[in-house]
Amino acid sequence: MDFIFQRTYRGPLKAVVLDWAGTAVDYGSFAPTAVFLRLFESLGVTISAADARSGMGLMKKDHLRTILSRPAAADAWKSARGASATEADIDNLFEHFVPMQLDVLKDYAEPIPGLQGTLKELRQRGIKIGSTTGYIRSMMDILAPEAAKRGYQPDCIVCPDEVPAGRPYPWMCYQNAMQLGVYPMAAMVKVGDTLTDIEEGLNAGMWTIGLSMTGNLAGLNETDVKALTIEQKNEVRKQAEKQLYQAGAHFVVDGIWDLTAALDKVQARLSQGWQV
Ligand SMILES: [Mg+2]
Repeated sequence: MDFIFQRTYRGPLKAVVLDWAGTAVDYGSFAPTAVFLRLFESLGVTISAADARSGMGLMKKDHLRTILSRPAAADAWKSARGASATEADIDNLFEHFVPMQLDVLKDYAEPIPGLQGTLKELRQRGIKIGSTTGYIRSMMDILAPEAAKRGYQPDCIVCPDEVPAGRPYPWMCYQNAMQLGVYPMAAMVKVGDTLTDIEEGLNAGMWTIGLSMTGNLAGLNETDVKALTIEQKNEVRKQAEKQLYQAGAHFVVDGIWDLTAALDKVQARLSQGWQV
C-alpha cells in the first residue's frame, strides 16, 4: 500500500472554551496578582509584579510554586525567611492564599468590554460556551455568580481541582467537551490570555486563540490601555503577540471583542481541511 488515508474534520466550529481572568472578566488579570503581592508582603517577602504574574493561568498552587522558582523571588524568600522555600512552605502559603483570594474575587467579576456582544453572536451561530480557569472551585463559587449578575454565564465551568491536574494538561478541556456534549476536539477553540491557556488547548487537540491586550501579558487595566499612545500600545501588543504565537497560538487578537473575526479565520482553515 503506497498511501494511507487520514480522516480530517471539516465541519462547523461547535464550542469555544474561554479562560476567566484576563479573558472574559477582570481586564488585565489583576485579582490573583494583587493577592499574591499582599500574601508575600505579609510574610516580609517583597516580590515584583512580574514574579507575581509569572505562573498565571496555572492552578494557584502551581502558580505559587512557579513564583518561588524565579531567582529574584527565591532570593527574597531566602533572605527574609532564612532558608529556601520548601513544599511545606508552598502548602502553607496556599492555605493562606485561598481565603485572601476568596475575599476579593467579587471585586474582579466585571466582564471585559465586548464579551456580551461576542457571546450573543456565538450563540446565534450555535456555538457553545465552555470555560476553564486557574481558580479552584471554591473561588469560582464566588466569582461565577458575581459574573452572572453582570450578564456572563458560560454553559459550563471546569476548575483544576475537579480533574486530575490543571493547565497545561488538557483534562479541563476534555471535561468541557463532555459536559457540552461536543466532539471532535478539532471543532473546539480554546481562548485565553496566558501561555498555559494556549498549551492547554493545543494539548487537547483544539484550535487556540490568544488575547494580547486584556490579559496577564499586558498586565494593564482598561484605563491604562486607553492612556497609552499608539506607539506604546503597539509595543505592548507586539510583546504579548510574540509570546502567544511562540506558545503555538493559531491566532492572536487584542481582546474578546475580536473573537468572532478570529473564529471566522479558524473556520476558514477547518473548511479547507487544515488540521489543528
Ligand atoms: Mg487568564
